[in-house]
Amino acid sequence: MKILIVEDEAKTGDYLKQGLSEAGFVVDLARDGLDGLHLALTETYDLAVLDVMLPGIDGWKVLQGIRRAGGEFPVLFLTARDGIDDRVHGLESGADDYLVKPFAFAELLARVRTLLRRGTKAREADVLRAADLEVDPLRRRVTRAGRRIDLTAREFALLELLLRRQGEVLPRSLIASQVWDMNFDSDTNVVEVAVRRLRAKIDDDFTPRLIRTVRGMGYALEAPE
Ligand code: CA
Repeated sequence: MKILIVEDEAKTGDYLKQGLSEAGFVVDLARDGLDGLHLALTETYDLAVLDVMLPGIDGWKVLQGIRRAGGEFPVLFLTARDGIDDRVHGLESGADDYLVKPFAFAELLARVRTLLRRGTKAREADVLRAADLEVDPLRRRVTRAGRRIDLTAREFALLELLLRRQGEVLPRSLIASQVWDMNFDSDTNVVEVAVRRLRAKIDDDFTPRLIRTVRGMGYALEAPE
């Protein structure tokens, strides 16, 4: 799960980043509104924590930009001002929740988890399909041609990513950051090895083959027409 934090106060930003990382999330931290919006529109996040008062553009504008571009992930606002106006403004702008500064980290973590659960339910209710491959993200079940296939957690995450972005060529670096929560140099072959293992389970004994290698670029999953 990947979280974007936009917070200009260095201490608060670092504290949030550290805390959420320790709680097992992959965290990007932007120090102003423009950087935050840029990241929100170019990376893939499951949730964003936005400070209201930011240099450049404020938290409301960042949220507007995200929603206008079709970003549907939940947004939790941090505000130093607990006036009722802020809350109304935020709700109209499409915020999902608020926390008034100063807050306890445990409170923030609880809100983040609740929002993610809610978002996951809405997004993952459906079974993902390509040809005769079926993946049920909620039940963690994979079948191909009606045959049950057991995957490791990583293999499952990799397959789910490829399926959710069916037809797109996903660079190895993107796969590594989404599935392994890490950035790595292109000389490591961890992604290649994982793709090979996944293929052995979901592709090798079946027709058509669904995972395509795009030389020099990455991998794509698609069912031929
Ligand atoms: Ca601020």
